[in-house]
Amino acid sequence: MATVGVQHHQMFIGGEGKDAAERYEIRNPANEELVATVAKGTVEDVDQAVAVAKRTFERGGWSGMTGEDRGAVLLRVAEAVSEHVEELIELEIAANGATVRQAGGFHIGLAAPHLTYFAELAAKQERERGIATAPYPTISQNVLRREPIGVCAGILPWNFPLVLALWKIGPALAAGNTVVIKTDEKTPLSTLAFARIAHEAGLPAGVLNVITGDGEDVGARLASHPDVGKVAFTGSTAVGREIMRLASQTVKKVSLELGGKGAAVVLEDADLETLADAALFGCCLYSGQMCESITRLVVPESIHDELVERIVRRAATIRLGDPADFDTDLGPVVSAEQHERILSYLEIGRAEGATVATGGGVPEGAAFERGFWIEPTVFVDVTNDMRIAREEIFGPVLCVIKYSGDPAEGVAIANDSIYGLSASVWSEDYEQALEVAAKLQAGTVWVNDVHMVDPALPFGGYKQSGLGRELGPDALNEYTEVKHVHIDLSRKREARAYDMVLSSDA
Ligand code: NAD
Repeated sequence: MATVGVQHHQMFIGGEGKDAAERYEIRNPANEELVATVAKGTVEDVDQAVAVAKRTFERGGWSGMTGEDRGAVLLRVAEAVSEHVEELIELEIAANGATVRQAGGFHIGLAAPHLTYFAELAAKQERERGIATAPYPTISQNVLRREPIGVCAGILPWNFPLVLALWKIGPALAAGNTVVIKTDEKTPLSTLAFARIAHEAGLPAGVLNVITGDGEDVGARLASHPDVGKVAFTGSTAVGREIMRLASQTVKKVSLELGGKGAAVVLEDADLETLADAALFGCCLYSGQMCESITRLVVPESIHDELVERIVRRAATIRLGDPADFDTDLGPVVSAEQHERILSYLEIGRAEGATVATGGGVPEGAAFERGFWIEPTVFVDVTNDMRIAREEIFGPVLCVIKYSGDPAEGVAIANDSIYGLSASVWSEDYEQALEVAAKLQAGTVWVNDVHMVDPALPFGGYKQSGLGRELGPDALNEYTEVKHVHIDLSRKREARAYDMVLSSDA
């Protein structure tokens, strides 16, 4: 194993690095070169990290701070992230193949602003609310409290490692919890780097712990650990079901952000020039490895051929290449496993009777002989019952589905899916577009746009795309318990309800 010049990364538990007997090799998806090694955590590391997080929570240093003080620490951490942006971008590109423009704009670029949003919420959070005096069943004063849960766990996918980690770390810490994060096996670098940056910026030891390890043992232990009060998961629907099952053993709180099969419903009056670009941006950003991508383009017959022609023409201008080059539009997919999976779906689509309008395989040329490359691909003649229209491909693959132009039919096609994460509607008539938006079964619906995610607005899925919401003004509530405190105001034994059980003449 040639590890000269390759940095080794440890886990981060209790404010310190923690190594492991075994290591993961992190390889650049663009050329398969070894870029780093990472400690491969075990079930014992989970137990240690949870014990540290539990002790830290119970000591009260973090959980007992005011929201304002916690918010101030998190703001300092967000500033430190901004100062380390270059280093984080480099790590993200090397591990997950995002292009420098995508990493700068999304993968890393969103990290500091999203954390800042949660820091500001920490200061504003209402932790205690008095309720007007209640005369029934006895006269009382009542107080509602929102309290942190304790140890919260986050289990991450590989596609947006740092930002998706912060969607869990941010609100959990802002609400006063301590956190254990398990990164994905392929892309742990940016989240591990973040933990160190946060610690150096003043986040106390033990408040945030980051472990690595395989899902089947380390992830499963975290999801079922009796001292973890909540598990927040982002990943596939299949593993999400397993997380729910594991968490049910101790009736943990669970939030799930799962798969998607986003549909764009095009109405007959859509602006085709914008739409051709939007369809490609929608399905090819980060090589289509985004849960809320446009994967199904539902197009009226009357404009189908013209729109497909425009998309195919525009797709030919997309430059694949070195992700670190600012001129590159599209990088590789993350791993050999994903590469094979996407290529197998390209075969399935052909076998099902869909026609490749552009792309359809591995790009030609010496630059693409190593690494995991897929051409931007557009399938036409797709029907919504095909596997390529029903299952998550998670690659730069767009399925164009023709319909009559009746908006009700377009909506029915879009909603005919087990998923309901994102959808969009394309029309110049906003009244009509909003009517369609109201009927689409998805947690986010964009009108004439796509991929717009804002920390101030909730994100999550209908149906099998998830449970609960991340982001938005209520984000911290997902990491709290609600406590009702009842204070007797009568101060008299006979004014209370005890005579339901006890006779007064005894
Ligand atoms: P995945 O489900 O394979 O893995 C996600 C995480 O779960 C990894 O850390 C993995 O180690 C862990 N894991 C695997 N088996 C486990 C088990 N038995 N117990 C506990 N943990 C286990 O997902 P992936 O391939 O990394 O990511 C792609 C998927 O994530 C896609 O389906 C995508 O749609 C989804 N995703 C959803 C969102 C969203 O917000 N809805 C965002 C990004 C990605």
